[in-house]
Amino acid sequence: MTGKHVGNSACPVCGGRMSLGKATIPFVLDASVVVIKDVPAEICGSCREPFMIGAVVDDISAMLQRAHNLHAEVLVLTFASSDESLSSIIYEPGLELGAELREG
Ligand SMILES: [Zn+2]
Repeated sequence: MTGKHVGNSACPVCGGRMSLGKATIPFVLDASVVVIKDVPAEICGSCREPFMIGAVVDDISAMLQRAHNLHAEVLVLTFASSDESLSSIIYEPGLELGAELREG
């Protein structure tokens, strides 16, 4: 039986193969748009659609709450996790990363 691994799931949009990486994801709130860069995400290799991984949802929620409190119309933030282990998820050996992620 083949186990279910992160990075091997199929894209809900096009069925393409997903890889772990970092994405810039815009969030539309009531009166503002918050763009968060470097969000750990599964990214489709075919249509490039990013999907947040579950481990970052709490951090994203906290950042959006802070952004909401600033009352800015447009805000661009860089993802910063309160959980150190998240960075090791992204760079875990054996995962197929997109070519553009190998430069670092
Ligand atoms: Zn796709």
